[in-house]
Amino acid sequence: MIKGKGGKPNRLVFDFEKISQAAFARNISKPAVRAQVVNSTRIPATRPASGKKIIVLDPGHGGHDPGNLGGVKVNGISEKNVTISAARNIKRILEASGRYKVILTRDRDIFLKLRERSLIAHRNNADLFISIHADAFRSSSVRGATIYTLTEKASDKEAAMLAARENKADIIAGVDLIGETDIVQNILIELVKQETMNLSNRFASELAPELRKAIVVRKRSLRSAAFAVLKGIDVPSVLIEMGYLTNQKDAKLLMQKETHEKIGRAILRATDKYFQKNFAFN
Ligand SMILES: [Zn+2]
Repeated sequence: MIKGKGGKPNRLVFDFEKISQAAFARNISKPAVRAQVVNSTRIPATRPASGKKIIVLDPGHGGHDPGNLGGVKVNGISEKNVTISAARNIKRILEASGRYKVILTRDRDIFLKLRERSLIAHRNNADLFISIHADAFRSSSVRGATIYTLTEKASDKEAAMLAARENKADIIAGVDLIGETDIVQNILIELVKQETMNLSNRFASELAPELRKAIVVRKRSLRSAAFAVLKGIDVPSVLIEMGYLTNQKDAKLLMQKETHEKIGRAILRATDKYFQKNFAFN
């Protein structure tokens, strides 16, 4: 690039040099900076000029994947319907603050692969990804919300079982997750992932006490497991199980707009604290 002088525009100049075929082949086989592949798929224009932070809300399941049917016996409701109405109400609360732009991974009853969900967050340059779910358990007395973050090794057996269940969504459609992560081989991406995990944990620890003020939360409210939907490479991500559809009280509350709004306000307080502490609002 040559800077233009005397009011003339800048010039972009290429010099071509004759080399042997062998040397040419050697040069093009050099690995291009592969870590940049991830960033190149982003849409920079989606970052709002207002300085609003972008939050992607992911209502779990949908389409031919109903999620858990634990609530069907209790009140005829499947998880996919609870998650979408909760997500819509949470979106409204967050956007009313004027500080956030909220994108839903799905706003109707459609099936999305787990990988597609986190890619939506990546492509939109999201600051935070929150997956919304509702749990089920064989004992109907168990109730309360739990917040999950990503680790390779589950924090406990129950968390591991839950992750296995949630991850089944892709197997249902005959999609295998293996082979989709070859880019993750790159060491730079590993570093980004580590930073993303740190930020995910920071957000989760802001959210846990706020959620406890709003709704019934399980004693061990923060857990971790290998959730496929949380494997977005560069967007801090958490998964909220809002309660148990197999519990009568939880199932009833999770159908109510007021409960969604309480959860929304808890998320809002947590996001405000998280962004203030870790990033400056501009
Ligand atoms: Zn779920």
